[in-house]
Amino acid sequence: MEKEDALNFVELNASLNIVFNGGYMSEKCPVCSKKLYVAKTKDTKTGNVKNVLCCSFCFNEFPYTEEEKKQEMCNNNRVLRFCKVRKEAKAPIRAHKEDAGADLFFCPADNKSVQIAPKHSEILPTGIKVEIPVGYMLEIKNKSGVASKKHLLVGACVCDSFYSGEIFVNLNNVGYDLQTIAPGEKIAQAVLVPIEYCDFEEIQEQELYKDMESTNKRGEGCLGSTGNS
Ligand SMILES: [Zn+2]
Repeated sequence: MEKEDALNFVELNASLNIVFNGGYMSEKCPVCSKKLYVAKTKDTKTGNVKNVLCCSFCFNEFPYTEEEKKQEMCNNNRVLRFCKVRKEAKAPIRAHKEDAGADLFFCPADNKSVQIAPKHSEILPTGIKVEIPVGYMLEIKNKSGVASKKHLLVGACVCDSFYSGEIFVNLNNVGYDLQTIAPGEKIAQAVLVPIEYCDFEEIQEQELYKDMESTNKRGEGCLGSTGNS
């Protein structure tokens, strides 16, 4: 960083209660992608001084320590709106704030248990509908306990944005024992996943990867061919 820049920076930030503390970080501002600087900031209420990362352009402040970053990520939760189709339905629950997924629960209309025979699958209602934001999908994933102890694995698993129906969970019994699931039981988890939308353009085979720098071509091996000589 040039000395002049640093001086300008101090001046610019004087009114913002931030003091330049030297050095800029390799990471960029999440808002405007400009350089982030380490700065000291004083909490006007408590008077405590702490390090923050400050953007040289938009002056947004970002947490400095890994612990603070984690805290902020967990506190800045997006809120998904959902409704219950039946009053017995349970709300999706993220047991810990760092969990990727929210637990989904079995909520049958007849309030009776269901049995899934070995090598069979069932489509289980959850009794909830969720507003899935544009640019995201809700992915239904295995719950480790359900998968490892009961050998029930999730089949169909993508809920698209604007899906307005009840969320169902498709469970396949890949084990050898009959499994029983009672109303209210945890059956799967839902993970909110950001999507890259894409279109497909057909090209000639020899054009594949032509525009990409790649020294690590994977070749034409089929599934699981990596590592075979
Ligand atoms: Zn910025």
